[in-house]
Amino acid sequence: MIKYDPKSLKAEEFINDAEIQETIKYAEENKNNMELINSILEKARPKKQGNGNVCQGLTHREASVLLACEDPEVTKKIYDIAEEIKLAFYGNRIVLFAPLYLSNYCVNGCLYCPYHIANKTIPRKKLTQEEVKAEVIALQDMGHKRLAIEAGEDPVNNPIEYILECIDTIYSIHHKNGAIRRVNVNIAATTVENYKKLADAGIGTYILFQETYNKEGYEKLHPTGPKHDYAYHTEAMDRAMEGGIDDVGLGVLFGLEGYKYEFAALLMHAEHLEAVHGVGPHTISVPRVKPADDINPEDFDNSIPDETFIKIAACIRLAVPYTGMIISTRENEQVRAEMLRVGISQISGGSRTSVGGYTEEERPHDTEQFDVSDQRTLDEVVSWLMDNGHIPSFCTACYREGRTGDRFMSLCKSGQILNCCHPNALMTLTEYMVDYAGEETKKKGFKMIDEELERIPKEKVKAIAIDNIKAIKESNSRDFRF
Ligand code: SF4
Ligand code: SF4
Repeated sequence: MIKYDPKSLKAEEFINDAEIQETIKYAEENKNNMELINSILEKARPKKQGNGNVCQGLTHREASVLLACEDPEVTKKIYDIAEEIKLAFYGNRIVLFAPLYLSNYCVNGCLYCPYHIANKTIPRKKLTQEEVKAEVIALQDMGHKRLAIEAGEDPVNNPIEYILECIDTIYSIHHKNGAIRRVNVNIAATTVENYKKLADAGIGTYILFQETYNKEGYEKLHPTGPKHDYAYHTEAMDRAMEGGIDDVGLGVLFGLEGYKYEFAALLMHAEHLEAVHGVGPHTISVPRVKPADDINPEDFDNSIPDETFIKIAACIRLAVPYTGMIISTRENEQVRAEMLRVGISQISGGSRTSVGGYTEEERPHDTEQFDVSDQRTLDEVVSWLMDNGHIPSFCTACYREGRTGDRFMSLCKSGQILNCCHPNALMTLTEYMVDYAGEETKKKGFKMIDEELERIPKEKVKAIAIDNIKAIKESNSRDFRF
């Protein structure tokens, strides 16, 4: 039997099937063990330390016990602690981003994605640099500062040079007061050499969804193409970090395989990164299978109901309190609202999941990767967030101040990040209000900014933030940050 070893660099040792099966069994056996459950809940709770809070997090086994427990009282406690952690480390801010699809050429055969090579009905499209420029201007004109670029795997149509050229184009465009200040990259698993090139291009987070950690299921879902290689895909984050990328983002596509398996394995992956590189994942994304051209979610029999999905997010929040959590437009407004409460820290807004979608008047469907459930504009999402007491943030400060990887984590763990996030959120929200917001949103936004300024505890920080906000309102000065 292959032995479990979180420090190993071999996929089947750090995502160890026997350990996952044991974990699921252990969780099932202990799902009514209230003494154990209460001690796990207590461990997860944030504790006061100095002026801030600290959290211990949970192991994959502990978190799996909580996920398995069906007692509604316990579920409520999990949600309450998740909210407590969320407020302690992320406050009421939500960072906004948008995906940018560069190309849907793909040589892989992923059964759940309409871009799979055997789909002959979907039009194939790859943006030229002129088209990238037009898309970025459209995104800047909406108010976005942070993008996640997406492309299928195709060494001929989308080689690394193409991706690098696009990143360069994106960073070079400054339309009116607009700028894309952080480009996260979601492309196929690649070599250390290519990851070095991405690091040198100044990317933010490298995001790669595992889709499923179950090797057997993975191989069936990826019958053809380079992505079929489970080990190469699963070990990608180690190569990315070896290539100098500090921030990596994990994710599974819930609905493909059993959620308890995916949950335990996802946390094992986080533990592995911490054990080997001294820093866990920067973000975890929680997408679910959605309908698309040639894709019917009912073909996958592991779809999960909303309540389970929300509980998974809350349990992740308890297990890895310092890892940002991302939800996309795949989810509708109601699910998003619940997810925000239990720990999501980043959402996409005004997204178009098709190649070239932002320059079209109408939302185009022919090249979409998945149906967008939340079809509101960015302005509507911003306004809705404020109505629900969240501060929409366009902050990208950490990455630009070199606070990445372990430097980010040590700041985050010491609670210092709170002194940056809150004023940064208010300053970037002011930029949004002045440059892009509709009249109604503006009224709400300026009111919120004034109120929230009063909540900055350090007088010196508050004074600087007030000065900067004044400068943003009265001139074209932009991009202030702590
Ligand atoms: S999921 Fe990615 S690799 Fe798979 S077919 Fe879609 S674009 Fe290609
Ligand atoms: S200050 Fe850093 S952690 Fe806080 S919102 Fe900005 S980029 Fe994120």
